[in-house]
Amino acid sequence: MTNAARYFWLPVADGSHGYGLTRHAFPGRRANASTAAPAHCGKTFALAVPSEMDWICAPTCQECNDTLKAGHAR
Ligand SMILES: [Zn+2]
Repeated sequence: MTNAARYFWLPVADGSHGYGLTRHAFPGRRANASTAAPAHCGKTFALAVPSEMDWICAPTCQECNDTLKAGHAR
């Protein structure tokens, strides 16, 4: 399994940012994910199908980003 296939980004409902959605990184593959999954920042989110606007507007979770960059993905 390559490094790129070990996680996926997905905008999920998260009220901690202004838009109401945040793009978090989740372990595994989107196709294999269930209805809820823990993101790399340690919080669990419901996985919905995002709209195109969600992808454009949702900010990236900095904690997920830092975790992946540091190689400490759980
Ligand atoms: Zn996150």
